[in-house]
Amino acid sequence: MNSDIRLIYARSGISEKVCSFCDEVLAGLSGRFAAIDETAEYNQIKVLNAMRNNNVSESHLGTSTGYGYDDTGRDTLEKVYAEIFCTEDALVRAQIASGTHALTLALAGNLRPGDELYSPVGLPYDTLQGVIGIRPERGSLAEYGVSYRQTDLLPDGSFDYPAIKEAINDKTKLVTIQRSKGYAGRPSFSVEKIAELIAFIKEVKPGVTVMVDNCYGEFVERHEPTEFGADMCVGSLIKNPGGGIAPCGGYIAGTRECVENAAARLTAPGLGKELGASLGVNRSFYQGLFFAPTVTASAIKTALFAAGVYEKLGYNVIPAAAKERADIIQAIELTTPEALCEFCKGIQSASPVDSYLTPEPWPMPGYGCDVIMAAGTFNNGSSIELSADGPLRPPYTAFFQGGLTWPHGRFGIMMSLQKLLDAGMVQLP
Ligand SMILES: *Cc1c(COP(=O)(O)O)cnc(C)c1O
Repeated sequence: MNSDIRLIYARSGISEKVCSFCDEVLAGLSGRFAAIDETAEYNQIKVLNAMRNNNVSESHLGTSTGYGYDDTGRDTLEKVYAEIFCTEDALVRAQIASGTHALTLALAGNLRPGDELYSPVGLPYDTLQGVIGIRPERGSLAEYGVSYRQTDLLPDGSFDYPAIKEAINDKTKLVTIQRSKGYAGRPSFSVEKIAELIAFIKEVKPGVTVMVDNCYGEFVERHEPTEFGADMCVGSLIKNPGGGIAPCGGYIAGTRECVENAAARLTAPGLGKELGASLGVNRSFYQGLFFAPTVTASAIKTALFAAGVYEKLGYNVIPAAAKERADIIQAIELTTPEALCEFCKGIQSASPVDSYLTPEPWPMPGYGCDVIMAAGTFNNGSSIELSADGPLRPPYTAFFQGGLTWPHGRFGIMMSLQKLLDAGMVQLP
């Protein structure tokens, strides 16, 4: 680190000790960073070509109001998504309120009463449990006569193939595979692993629909699950594919049939994709998608750096620093509530927005304990932006993700370490 950089870190409250310690960690990561940059390069050209091949033009960046008929900007963006995901069609809309909403449209649109939804990878993401009716909620799929079955992962986190074969039955209509572990204790799956699982499932039941919950996974690798037999990939635009620029929205990329079915739920049967004013988001959806490969790379570098720093300090980190990344989430077991809070304070104070606020633990619906959150983001709740949260229960894990730029991610992690050092909770050599 040169003296200029040291000086600006010093002026920002980062001590010489923290700088040196973090420099050492970084030195060990240069090969990994080069590989992340290569993937970003590949994905950048993939995204760029999809825009070039679809003749994206200035006029597509405009807006529509009212019903939104003939919004060529919106329709062309959906073609761009379809090309990137190698699918027949896509639905990319501001009216999709969140990742959970996108997943709900994909499920509710493609399941009918009497059908069974099946997860071969254990319990789905927390919010999906309410959607499915695993946890009773008003309007769940269970209320509409859709049953649910799951097969848990084996203790080592791998797929239980014999049990999966057993579980798939006459009623199995749609198989849901969650790529990222989210906030669960299991591993995230590489696209290669997902491809293996899909091939197995389609051999057991040809014609079954496979949906991948792609949240946090987009652009982490060079290929997406729809290139390997998934009928749909579904996600949120305030995560990876929005590049930190999209202010809201979600997407479903998949077969024409699956996308039309989801669109009939988003708007109405008979109306489908034809409706939906873009309300000024077209430009930011395109621009965010354009940035998404390098923004995702920044988030992966930040996660890897965090793993390296905290692993070197003796904390258990998931995934371990040496592990290949399948998503942008990093978990750090901080072992005490005080350390978890200091970590979050560091992330918050390193934020571009609300840096002066101090995060405090708070009771959150759906958790059995208080949760502390650090997020100084441009878009509310955006988790492609540097953010952390942790339930206040052992082992006091900080789930941490995002970083629109690598220098910001690096600064956030250094600040978290500085807070822990200042509070006397860690010692540096
Ligand atoms: C974030 C996430 C969701 C839900 O997205 P929201 O935008 O928070 O509704 C679903 N599945 C996974 C794996 C996620 O990471």
